[in-house]
Amino acid sequence: MKFQCPSCGLRINGQHFKEAGLLNPKLASICNFCRARGLVAASYANSAVEVAAKGMLYSFDGKSEQSLSLAEKTQPATYLVADKRQRKQLEAFLQDFDTNSLVRQQVAAKDLEQAIISCEDGSLPMPDQGREFSENLTQLGLQVNFQLNEVDYIDRERIRAKYHYRCQYCGRYGRSVDHKDPVSLSHNNKLDNLILACSECNRIKSNMPYDLFVKLNDELKPVNAKLVKYENTLGTLKQEFQTRKRDLAGQVHLKGVVNDPELAAMRKTNKSLQDTIDSLQADYDALRQAREAYFASGWKLHEAGQNPDII
Ligand SMILES: [Zn+2]
Ligand SMILES: [Zn+2]
Repeated sequence: MKFQCPSCGLRINGQHFKEAGLLNPKLASICNFCRARGLVAASYANSAVEVAAKGMLYSFDGKSEQSLSLAEKTQPATYLVADKRQRKQLEAFLQDFDTNSLVRQQVAAKDLEQAIISCEDGSLPMPDQGREFSENLTQLGLQVNFQLNEVDYIDRERIRAKYHYRCQYCGRYGRSVDHKDPVSLSHNNKLDNLILACSECNRIKSNMPYDLFVKLNDELKPVNAKLVKYENTLGTLKQEFQTRKRDLAGQVHLKGVVNDPELAAMRKTNKSLQDTIDSLQADYDALRQAREAYFASGWKLHEAGQNPDII
């Protein structure tokens, strides 16, 4: 999904409007480059982002469209990058950047922000669509090693088989092949540096320092064991429910009537199975949320401990 930033005027991928946060993701009215300049999202409206945030149950950091006066709504837009051709050049470059995971892994977010801001301000040359992407990166002072091998498909499958599709952090079903040491630090694609994770651990892990994630996770062994049990039990029950639903549909078809004592009895047991699944799922989700909150607060406390004393 792409949005246009009402400040710089760039139409770019939605991820540039996301504000980092483990617990409460937010979408901002303006892009991360404009925020990195010190502009404040709360002073800008962006109805497209506002609607998307609502749909995804994110909070929206910006001026609400409804609070705008008619004059504000109709006044022509003036953009920080006033030249349309320059906006297109930056948009094309960011499109290349966003879709290249090798590059994303190696360039720090702050460095990219600084480079884009310098382009917009004219202190660095604009990326040029006539040039190779790698040349554009070099022009912007962004160092990327393109010789690195990405983990290839065969290796991924081997890793998944090696770990029997089990997340090595929590033990639940997992299929994300990942580096133990983050690749941006080690560039190590050897098989013994690769590990399997579930999507949930992967997301939490990528949002925080790796060593801290491992340390906090080590404290969670009994909780992780419970998560595995929930996942297995829910899997079994949901399968059973699907079977019974099919049986019921088959019986309705066979009998040619909808109301029948036998059918009613089947519906009743199905309903109680559904209730069991729902309440188990709610317990499971609550435990998952508590675990995620634990990582978030562990990280916060870690950061607080790192900050220099002010008293
Ligand atoms: Zn912007
Ligand atoms: Zn996991």
